[in-house]
Amino acid sequence: MSDKPLTISRRSFMIGAGAGSVLLAAGSGLGGTGGAEPKPAHVLPPLPYPENALDPYISSRTLEFHHGKHHRAYFDNLNRLVQGGELADLGIEEVIGRTAGRSDQVAIFNNAAQAWNHTFYWRSMRPKGGGTPTGPLEEQIERDFGSFDALRTQLAGAASTHFGSGWAWLVHEGGKLKVTATHDADTPIAHGQTPLLTIDVWEHAYYLDYQNRRADYVNAVLASLVDWGFAADNLDRARG
Ligand code: MN
Repeated sequence: MSDKPLTISRRSFMIGAGAGSVLLAAGSGLGGTGGAEPKPAHVLPPLPYPENALDPYISSRTLEFHHGKHHRAYFDNLNRLVQGGELADLGIEEVIGRTAGRSDQVAIFNNAAQAWNHTFYWRSMRPKGGGTPTGPLEEQIERDFGSFDALRTQLAGAASTHFGSGWAWLVHEGGKLKVTATHDADTPIAHGQTPLLTIDVWEHAYYLDYQNRRADYVNAVLASLVDWGFAADNLDRARG
């Protein structure tokens, strides 16, 4: 859990995450006091690409529901739950840090973490993604996993075999890269890890397109959508 101060600007915000920090989303809405009108503390960021941009690997129908309904609901619930309370004016990652592991704050944690995780997930993909990492990320993958193929096998395995709802992640912790999986809403930023990349393995992420064939969805993401440039940027910041 991070208690680092946060650096927030209108254009971007950095997420204090233990060993490093992550540039989550340029232009995403954060709570602020700029306007006279009361406004929600947390605003659903737009998708970083059009709804049909990941077709045919992830359909516009899936993105319409996943971003427009599921992701939006986490923001709506979070805003409702923090309204008027001691967490109302905090950034989303600080809400996550303050509520992680607290049995009396489970609903707030779950909605804040899901809101954060999904924003990070959209950024973990891009149209015409896939391929292989280059530069310092490639070098560190070879050092920590032996080869890119070994990392890919671990990540695909973690995503495909994770039991129930959750997330598969490539994270940076203690100077090393690791593959992890989290259950339900849980997120590496609540555990002092810096995420580089994630794959959503909740059924709503793939069921319309792949039904129960989760491994096919995971392989399509890794082959054709994953944004290694985003992961490389996150590694730079984690090391910085
Ligand atoms: Mn999801």
